[in-house]
Amino acid sequence: MDQLPQIKFRKLYDQFNQPITEDDCGKHCAGHNPSGKPFCCDVCQAVPAVYTDEWAYLKQTTNLWRPWLGTECAEQDQRMAELRDSTPENMVLLACLGPEQCQREYRALSCRQFPFFPYITEDFRFIGLAYEWHFESTCWVINHLNLVRPVYRQEFVAAFDYVFDQWPDEMESYADLSAEMRDVFGAQGRRIPILHRNGSDYLLSPGDDRLRRADLSRVSRSILYR
Ligand code: SF4
Ligand code: SF4
Repeated sequence: MDQLPQIKFRKLYDQFNQPITEDDCGKHCAGHNPSGKPFCCDVCQAVPAVYTDEWAYLKQTTNLWRPWLGTECAEQDQRMAELRDSTPENMVLLACLGPEQCQREYRALSCRQFPFFPYITEDFRFIGLAYEWHFESTCWVINHLNLVRPVYRQEFVAAFDYVFDQWPDEMESYADLSAEMRDVFGAQGRRIPILHRNGSDYLLSPGDDRLRRADLSRVSRSILYR
């Protein structure tokens, strides 16, 4: 098998480092999590997946991360078992030291991109950011998309342009995730909020990827943030 080009993770991290919003979003969501941790930094709520090459870089440079064992939480539910089964071969599941001991410079790509993923249209174009809909009820950012800083959006797009340029096959997994989101939202009769790479915001029709300009401050919020 051909060797994949090396992604320079230090460079990627340095160029994708801006906070998502002006506020520290973790302060808004942590109080709603029984553990008191921001949802995306609580391994019982979200298990970070990193590329195997990324793990090779991180384990050489920091003590922040270790392999996820699956025994970290008192109740390991079915979702966690499914998560392990569904992790792509080129990724590993990790656990970090936790938010009190976070080392921001060694946050994984998955920490930096959360709660977003690159949205890929049915005709295979990376048009912007969509969100991890499983966290719609808990993530403050998802409920305040209008507060996402333009510079964060730009860095997100540049980061994934770089990843897809190096590893074009990576677009496939996000194309699958985007298709799954279209199915879920289509079944619910909802349109998908998109932070477009052109800097504007849209609602996308899941049936045909048609975009309509939208004011995302008007998208309905989860009960936690009304
Ligand atoms: S991205 Fe969402 S879940 Fe993570 S800290 Fe911010 S508001 Fe909380
Ligand atoms: S490394 Fe930091 S940002 Fe990433 S999950 Fe851990 S505490 Fe959260």
